[in-house]
Amino acid sequence: MKIQFTDISTAGNHYTITDDDWLARTDLRKNTPVRAELRLTKKNDRRVEVCGNLNAGLLLACDRCLADYSFTAQTTFHYILDLESEKNGHIKEIECTRANLDIIQVDEPVIDIPDLLRQQLYLVLPEKKICSAGCKGLCMQCGMNWNTGECSCADDMSNSPFAVLASLKKG
Ligand SMILES: [Zn+2]
Ligand SMILES: [Zn+2]
Repeated sequence: MKIQFTDISTAGNHYTITDDDWLARTDLRKNTPVRAELRLTKKNDRRVEVCGNLNAGLLLACDRCLADYSFTAQTTFHYILDLESEKNGHIKEIECTRANLDIIQVDEPVIDIPDLLRQQLYLVLPEKKICSAGCKGLCMQCGMNWNTGECSCADDMSNSPFAVLASLKKG
C-alpha cells in the first residue's frame, strides 16, 4: 500500500493495519495477530508527519539453545518526512526539529506503508536473541538442550579440551 503525499489531508489520515502481508515479506515468523496504527498528517506540500504504533507477536529462535520463543515487538514512532528539494540529493539524512521530531528526507512524495512498518519492526528486534536470562544453552558435545535436562557428557568433559572452551563460553 503506497500513499501519495497528495492523498494525505491536513486533518490527518488514519489507518489501522491488521493484515500481515507486510510481515510475510520478511524472514520473521508471526506468533500472534499483528496490529499497527498509523496517522499521516500533511504539514505542507513537501512535509508529512508520521505517527503510529506497532504491536507484533513473533517467534524468534534463541541464539543459545536454538529453541523458538515468543517475543512481542511493541513500538511507537513519530517523525516528519521531508521531500528532498535538490534533484541529486538522494542521501537520506536525519536531523532534529525544534520540536525534537526527527526529519527523514525522502526523494519521492510517497509513503510505502509495508516498508515503513518493516523498518520500524526491525528497529525493536533484540540484537541478542535469548529465550530467557537463565537459558543454559546446548551441550557442545552431544547437542542436548540443557534447559530440558542434563546429559552425561559433563564428567567426560572435565578431562577434554572442550572443558576449557565450555568454561570460557559460560563466562
Ligand atoms: Zn535459549
Ligand atoms: Zn552432552
